[in-house]
Amino acid sequence: MYHHIKQLMYTVRIGQPDPHFGNMLLEQFGGANGELAAAMQYSVQGLNCDDPERKDLLMDVGTEELSHLEVVGTLARMHLKPLKNDRKAAHADPLIAIAGGGGVNLYNSAGDAWTADYLKITGELDVDLRSNIAAEARAKIVYERLIDFTDDQGTIDALQFLMTREITHMKAFTAALESMGKPTFSIGKIPPTPGLVDQYFNDSTGVGDRGEPDARGPWNEGGDWEMVTAPAFQELESASAGTRAPGSNGGSRRH
Ligand code: MN
Ligand code: MN
Repeated sequence: MYHHIKQLMYTVRIGQPDPHFGNMLLEQFGGANGELAAAMQYSVQGLNCDDPERKDLLMDVGTEELSHLEVVGTLARMHLKPLKNDRKAAHADPLIAIAGGGGVNLYNSAGDAWTADYLKITGELDVDLRSNIAAEARAKIVYERLIDFTDDQGTIDALQFLMTREITHMKAFTAALESMGKPTFSIGKIPPTPGLVDQYFNDSTGVGDRGEPDARGPWNEGGDWEMVTAPAFQELESASAGTRAPGSNGGSRRH
């Protein structure tokens, strides 16, 4: 169950309202990487979670994200309030000015309505935890960019708090995933096809106009990796030799 306490998780104070910045803040209120998306993603994952310890983690963090939603919504509201009556300020976000009377709503900074399509919920705990680690990283970088775009110290302090908590959550989700003890590339139950799983298709070749290389690195060499000529090239080569490519019937990509 939920209960509301009339106190923000982080007290918000601002100097002068900045309506354009208020519009940017909506990204963390009703946007793809925002606090409502985080709160709903973790809480709904928690409903689906059969592992009681990690369900507790999902519910703890999901609930904290609701408190973040309240902080960032309060902050955005402070910056957007002048839109109600100030014709010049209204340019910063006509939707909030005209339809919302200077109040926040669940839209992103471009006025797109919040959607459950933002959520990544698979019903597979380790897969969900990976999504959550990535979601926290995205939220962190959005807060960092917001901090870079304001000089208001009170606003910066609140955003620094929210940004820090995303790294805290990233640490917790990472530890929870590692503590499951699953090998990194073991996802689900059906194993990948041996051989094929270690083939790296060199599908982008040549040197780019700005010197972009046909790169080698630990993502395609060493260990079990087998570097494989682009299947499209295999096709061309065998066509010019008058034979069908080994993979041209949709079967094996081995060469
Ligand atoms: Mn958050
Ligand atoms: Mn978070």
